[in-house]
Amino acid sequence: MSPLRYKLCLDLCMKKICKVLLSSLFFYSVAVAEPTMDGYLIRSNYILTMAKGSAEPLDGYIQFSKEGLIVDIVKGEPSETLGGTVIDARGKIIMPGFVSGHNHLWQRAFRGLASDQELYGWLKSLHWTFGDFFQDGDMYNFTLYGALDQLANGITTTLNHSQNVAPTYDQYIEQFEAEMAAGQHFIFSYVLDENEPSPAIRKSKLLSLIDDTSRRPGPHACLGFGLHGTGIYRGMDFHREEVNLAKELDLDMQIHYLEEKAESLRNGQKKFESMAEKGGLWDGLVYAHFIHATDEILETSAKAGVKMIWNPLSNGRLASGLADIPRYLSAGLEIGMGVDGSASGDVCDPFQNMRMGMYALRMKDSNAAVMSSIDILRMHTLKTAQVLEVDDRVGSLEQGKFADFLIIQPAAPVFDPYSTIVLATSANDIESVWVRGQKMVESGKYSNHDMVAIKREVARRVARIVSDQAGNN
Ligand SMILES: [Zn+2]
Repeated sequence: MSPLRYKLCLDLCMKKICKVLLSSLFFYSVAVAEPTMDGYLIRSNYILTMAKGSAEPLDGYIQFSKEGLIVDIVKGEPSETLGGTVIDARGKIIMPGFVSGHNHLWQRAFRGLASDQELYGWLKSLHWTFGDFFQDGDMYNFTLYGALDQLANGITTTLNHSQNVAPTYDQYIEQFEAEMAAGQHFIFSYVLDENEPSPAIRKSKLLSLIDDTSRRPGPHACLGFGLHGTGIYRGMDFHREEVNLAKELDLDMQIHYLEEKAESLRNGQKKFESMAEKGGLWDGLVYAHFIHATDEILETSAKAGVKMIWNPLSNGRLASGLADIPRYLSAGLEIGMGVDGSASGDVCDPFQNMRMGMYALRMKDSNAAVMSSIDILRMHTLKTAQVLEVDDRVGSLEQGKFADFLIIQPAAPVFDPYSTIVLATSANDIESVWVRGQKMVESGKYSNHDMVAIKREVARRVARIVSDQAGNN
């Protein structure tokens, strides 16, 4: 993809629109600020930067500015002359916030449903049963609930693969507004409005959302836009329109592909040839799931630069299957991780997601070397940010990036902090979650949101939907 990331992109008539157009709003940009007296300094002997090539914890300190950018990461003790507010986290582990590359945040209100169903039975029990009964405000409240849940579980950047299941498009757009309110960094994966009569109108609706967003006072949480491609299930003409638009606007496009086994064998694999036609595979295409790939599909996709998001928690819950990650990595596929929808992953827990994936691979091969702790931790942080093309701002603790990090109180003595995180940590061990240098969650309590009131509102709305649906039958 073209590296337009930090250019001003307010002219929407430009040939290409930068997928991270909103970065133009971040008045602090990525220019590295000088250490200041009014910034922050966090001291720890276990700083896991997750930067490319880093394999050892750093015993030192991180400086970040009031604006939420990492100014410096230094080994050793800080000088007393540095100033700023000091956070003493010695004995605790500092790591970048998790990045989750595939999510449907609204689903949090419906977790635990249809536990004996595979993908299509589960979709029938949720989307196709309750979707028609959504009313104004439901998507907003459910999405806010899902985003805050992810934050408390340590996910500071998410790609919301937004879904158009409510009766109106305005209700669909509520997902975007909720994410703006939540404070979690996000990429909005946008569904073209199929009800509009022409491709031009569908495109103009997307552009006006981007334009509107770009004019709001920053800084705010949106890192950019992508497309949620649905044409592969609605018709190849629509799919082609999505591909062409994504390429024209230089947006990434993510699609569900090769998830449920029966559907993958019956239809999914057969669609590949037409998907690949006319430049349909490119480095802006991202597969969510991608479990049942033939050698040909895998190799052709990897060669074209297509990437994937692996969702082991959801894949296990829905009995979708185990992606052959070692084979995919050998083929050169770039892989990130996601916790998927809050009702198919059920608990948006990246620790559980890593363990589920790593243990399943180890069980399958009876080989502990098939996936290491540091490799899967990097996959759920920096590598996912790379797949989403936001690794210039998030995914690792490096100078110039956002101060998005977790302070973790290890539950037991630390031998290897990477393994402590992957094997022996749960969300309960997160002491605090920081986004852009702001403490968003501390000991499970939100700085800016009243979760008791949000839960009450969500419960009221779900009860109404269930009642309306029952009354309709
Ligand atoms: Zn999904």
